[in-house]
Amino acid sequence: MDLSYIINEYAEEREKYFNAVSPPIIQSSNFVFNTVEDMRQAFADEYSTYLYSRGRNPTVDILRKKLAALDGAEDCLVFNSGAAAIFAAVLANVKAGDHIVSVDKPYTWAQKMFNDILPRFGVTTTYIDGREIEHFERAILPNTTVIYLESPNSWDYALQDLKAVAELARAEHIVTIIDNSYCTPLYQRPIEYGIDLTMQTATKYISGHSDTLGGVLCGSKTMIERIFNSEYMNIGSGIQPFNAWLLIRGLRTLPARLDRITASTKKVTEYLKNQPKVEELLFPFDESFPQYNLAKQQMSGACGLLTFIIKTTTINEIEHFCESLQHFFMAVSWGGHESLIIPKCSGIKPADFDAGNKEHRMLRLYVGLEDPDYLIRDLDQAFGNMQ
Ligand SMILES: *Cc1c(COP(=O)(O)O)cnc(C)c1O
Repeated sequence: MDLSYIINEYAEEREKYFNAVSPPIIQSSNFVFNTVEDMRQAFADEYSTYLYSRGRNPTVDILRKKLAALDGAEDCLVFNSGAAAIFAAVLANVKAGDHIVSVDKPYTWAQKMFNDILPRFGVTTTYIDGREIEHFERAILPNTTVIYLESPNSWDYALQDLKAVAELARAEHIVTIIDNSYCTPLYQRPIEYGIDLTMQTATKYISGHSDTLGGVLCGSKTMIERIFNSEYMNIGSGIQPFNAWLLIRGLRTLPARLDRITASTKKVTEYLKNQPKVEELLFPFDESFPQYNLAKQQMSGACGLLTFIIKTTTINEIEHFCESLQHFFMAVSWGGHESLIIPKCSGIKPADFDAGNKEHRMLRLYVGLEDPDYLIRDLDQAFGNMQ
């Protein structure tokens, strides 16, 4: 299916709603039946019917179909946040006594689930450096049921060889789950490499306007139907129709936005590489990146997020740099229209700052939709303020 077709036409049944170009928001909690038999059938198989919007909803279905097609997956569920999608995907594949192998430093709320929630139910997690396939081989135990990936990581962009991990996991009957938020299915399609479940936050690039949260989970019909009938219905964190509509709207411009952000990010990385106050640049499509070859092999693009290590001996200078930026907002999230910065040192107490620790001097930029020269001028004046 063509990308343009998926985004502009697929799964839209306009003749059902006055040929409107923009689909309606079916803001209804429940759906009416004319016969007892119809109602009986709906109770027996909620996955296939409109009964109650905690399960299926027509506006949400348009989004589900488009997102499944983008990932090359059979089916998809959309949650009210990426964190909910991660939680449901993992919960659906573990029971008491099971073991998970996860890459180091996955998304914060994935870590909290592995560290704080799952141990209460007897599920343990081993973290590994996922850059080497041998680390997976060594960490797998007889009770391992899930391998959890995030490629690239959203701070240091560490990658995993998706095809190799998928092959290893298949042979051991282990379910693979990936957080594909950095790339979106436009730049990486993990299911084609044999990964079972692919998750992305829709809050970031899919929304694109910093005005809604959402989370996507794609996989085989068997797996998605099973998750629908248990975790999805029980946790009740499916996306609401209005937010689904915002995400359909966001999708319309996703390719154009990613093109723009890719071009701007290239300009910004070139500027940073020549900036004397930058000690190191981390970006998967930069030739200096240690896993550049793997990135080029399994990703068709990289954009938006990049990290640099700033040359300084004091936390004050980092704070001053961030606070003197006028057009990069200091805020979490990314993928919207607005450019952003997060200093890693905002996560530590000032007294614990150690200039010898590169991580403490990390700054993550998100390049948004503004004119790249406007952004570069802003960075330049903030670097100038450091002297
Ligand atoms: C934001 C984010 C998530 C979580 O998504 P929410 O929609 O905020 O719940 C998961 N993974 C990565 C890499 C993220 O950046």
